[in-house]
Amino acid sequence: MAAAAIPTQARSKQLRACLLCSIIQLPVDFRKNGCPNCEEIMQMKMNSDRIASCTTTYFDGVVAVVDPENSWVARWQRTSKYVRGMYAVRVKGRIPEDVELELENRGIKYRPRDQTDQE
Ligand SMILES: [Zn+2]
Repeated sequence: MAAAAIPTQARSKQLRACLLCSIIQLPVDFRKNGCPNCEEIMQMKMNSDRIASCTTTYFDGVVAVVDPENSWVARWQRTSKYVRGMYAVRVKGRIPEDVELELENRGIKYRPRDQTDQE
């Protein structure tokens, strides 16, 4: 199973959370590999502007997800492409409109991750 680089050495303010799946990585990892879960939609690889608009430093409630089978990501990822890693419980912000549109085209209803409700 694939796994995201878990940024244990980093100070939290250096980290960014994906607005769609809420995985937490160093900016350099988003730049190098994109989002390990939603790169197909987000297309952040080698694109700093995209990383800036699709990830945020405003998140809290960091959890290590080693068994993401029941993660909400699993609902729209047909395969088990989502990875083990660090995830934020709450992420402040919204994905760009074009990404939301892309999700809509795929029949996926976007839910901002800044809600306090736990699914
Ligand atoms: Zn993501």
